[in-house]
Amino acid sequence: MSEGKKKTKVVKVIKINADKCNGCRACEVICSAYHAEPKYSSANPARARIRVVRDPLRDIYVPVQAGEYTPAECLGRDKYILDGKEYDECSFCRASCPSRDVFKEPDSGLPLKCDMCEGEDEPLCVKWCLVDALTYEEREEEVVEEEEQPLDALEVGLASLADKYGLDKVLDAVARMSLKE
Ligand code: SF4
Ligand code: SF4
Repeated sequence: MSEGKKKTKVVKVIKINADKCNGCRACEVICSAYHAEPKYSSANPARARIRVVRDPLRDIYVPVQAGEYTPAECLGRDKYILDGKEYDECSFCRASCPSRDVFKEPDSGLPLKCDMCEGEDEPLCVKWCLVDALTYEEREEEVVEEEEQPLDALEVGLASLADKYGLDKVLDAVARMSLKE
C-alpha cells in the first residue's frame, strides 16, 4: 500500500470541564447570536451549535457541541449514569440525527454543526464562559493528505434535504427557484 502525502494540520479543541459549568447558557446565547442571519440580529438557543444538558437539582451541567450530520440513527447507544441519575440514551451525543430535534434549525430542520466560530480568533462560547468551563487549545498534527475534500455546510444541508424529501424533489425545487430568478 502506498503512503499518502503528509501535511501539517491545526487541530482545534474546546476542552469542557463540566465540574465548572454552572448552567448559565451564555454559550448557547452567543453561539446562536453569532450564527444568526444577519449576525447578532437574534439570540435563540434552539439555534445554537452547543447545548447544555442540565440537571439543576443535582447541580450537573454538561455542555455538548454539535458534531456531524448523520442520515440514519445509529444502532449502538450510550447510557450515562452521573451522580446516580441515568440519562436518556443519546443525551450526550453530538450528532444531528433523524431520531431527535437536537442540533437542527427549528424552522427548516437543517442540521447545525459547530464550526469553531470560523474567522474569530477564539470560539465565542469560550470567550463568553466566565467560569472557564470551556477553554480553547490549538495543536499541530501531521496527517495523511485527504484526496477528497470534506463536505461544506451547503453540501451537508443539501444532503440532509435529499435524505428527507428525496433527491428528485430537491432538484425540482432548485430548478423552480432558478426559473424564478
Ligand atoms: S457559558 Fe460556561 S458556565 Fe455557562 S453554560 Fe456555557 S459552559 Fe456552562
Ligand atoms: S465554537 Fe462557535 S460554533 Fe462552536 S459551539 Fe462554540 S460558539 Fe458555537
